[in-house]
Amino acid sequence: MGECIFCRIVAGEVPADVVAETSRCLAFRDRNPKAPTHVLVVPVDHVAHAGELGAEHADLLAEMFATARSVAEGDGVAESGYRLVFNVGDDGGNTVAHLHLHVLGGRAMAWPPG
Ligand code: 5GP
Ligand code: ZN
Repeated sequence: MGECIFCRIVAGEVPADVVAETSRCLAFRDRNPKAPTHVLVVPVDHVAHAGELGAEHADLLAEMFATARSVAEGDGVAESGYRLVFNVGDDGGNTVAHLHLHVLGGRAMAWPPG
């Protein structure tokens, strides 16, 4: 997966503003933030997208969601609220083929998203 930008960030080959790290996942700020808090939580081991997840990923997903919560708490948006998003496929707006959970907060989110 030498071409995968998020694998390269996990490996430390590409710099990123890391805000949390666990044994299974890494959280870093999106380089093009869509909200005052915009953090991506990614698995250390490459998984392509949320459409490939199965029961074997249960522990990983629990850790990703727990990491998202601690990121929200660290940014002071846990009380005001935040949005967690997995984009899948072209219509979902997925552009990077390494699973990532968007943590968006610090402003009110539109619903439905545009
Ligand atoms: P997607 O559209 O696939 O759901 O989200 C990919 C996100 O990754 C986008 O919000 C984009 O700004 C972010 N992104 C893409 N490349 C990089 C990078 O090299 N570093 C960081 N920090 N974010 C990136
Ligand atoms: Zn990857």
